Amino acid sequence: MSELMPCFHIDLPDKAQQHHAAALDFLERHGISPNPICYAIAYEYDAGRKPELNLEIESHLDRGRELDVHYLREFFDTHFMGQSEDKVGKHIADLHNLLYKVLEGVSGACSGAADFGKVLEAQTEELKGDVDMAGLKKIAGNLLTATNKAISSNQAMRDQLESVEKDTSDLKSQVKQLQDQASRDSLTGLYNRNALSQQLDSMIERGASKEAPLSLLMVDIDHFKRFNDNFGHLIGDEVIRRVSMALQQGVRDVDVAARFGGEEFTVVLPGTDLDAALEVAQKLHEAISKLALVRRSTKEKLPGITVSMGASCLHPGDSRESLIERADQALYHAKESGRNRIVSEAEALVH
Ligand code: GH3
Ligand code: MG
Ligand code: MG
Repeated sequence: MSELMPCFHIDLPDKAQQHHAAALDFLERHGISPNPICYAIAYEYDAGRKPELNLEIESHLDRGRELDVHYLREFFDTHFMGQSEDKVGKHIADLHNLLYKVLEGVSGACSGAADFGKVLEAQTEELKGDVDMAGLKKIAGNLLTATNKAISSNQAMRDQLESVEKDTSDLKSQVKQLQDQASRDSLTGLYNRNALSQQLDSMIERGASKEAPLSLLMVDIDHFKRFNDNFGHLIGDEVIRRVSMALQQGVRDVDVAARFGGEEFTVVLPGTDLDAALEVAQKLHEAISKLALVRRSTKEKLPGITVSMGASCLHPGDSRESLIERADQALYHAKESGRNRIVSEAEALVH
């Protein structure tokens, strides 16, 4: 769970009453208990103030998925706790203030140097006239004072710059960490759905060609519910984590492995045509089938994990949605034809 606080909108009493009744009705229809997280989602769904949340819920239901506490928890994290950007913004403001301080310091040093220049100029002028011993001593004294002042202000400046440089690099790494955090799924460390959308959109924008094709895999754990039902949700979470690790380890750095939601994953394979993508899928499928989970408390071996996969590749005119939709159709065929298999968009079309 994020350390950030969720933010809620406070409605007027009659509106609140209306959303409250609709939220309870929604939760009852989907068989979900009205815990605070699920209630907040259901309430906000009825209020309709978060269009992306509503779209996500509707697309989840359209895809024939059931809603349950796990999915609502994910939606909550994304749509209510997704304030990391604000925090990033706050750090950027801190960084900005620091840089301002640096600039101030630099211009202070420059004005110090200008003062020094002025003293030099004035003392040179003095030297041009008649100067007696006492005058020379005075000029030498003035020059010494100005030089010492310049040296100590330079030293102070160097110290200030050093500390500002350290603060700046600390802040920069904090900002990077926060940005990474905002793009990762908290359970698995894979990219989350938002990050997947962004990366996929930019890959699609760059376009695909014969020389640089782009493929996508949708991966779904088979009968995952049984792990939850038979061994509890913590073991279910562990299964999700282990599958995620196998996916992450089985792809290249340029590929994008993401948690699409629940026990479903997406792998984007740039520079990979459909045939090559099916080979990658085969490799991932095998790696997952070899995962051996043992229950620590009882040393009991858990049943093997299998996944079904659907593969698609980018066609001219494709959008992110259409590319995912074809892989999803293929995944549906993989499920329908017995699970534990890989189906490509080409095969799905034939069936
Ligand atoms: P299929 O082979 O058709 O994919 O069946 P399935 O049981 O894998 O799929 P189904 O959609 O029926 O159930 C998926 C379950 O995954 C429902 C939900 O409770 C559970 N789930 C979703 N997210 C999480 C999570 O983060 N942790 C755990 N433990 N369970 C989750
Ligand atoms: Mg499943
Ligand atoms: Mg699923």
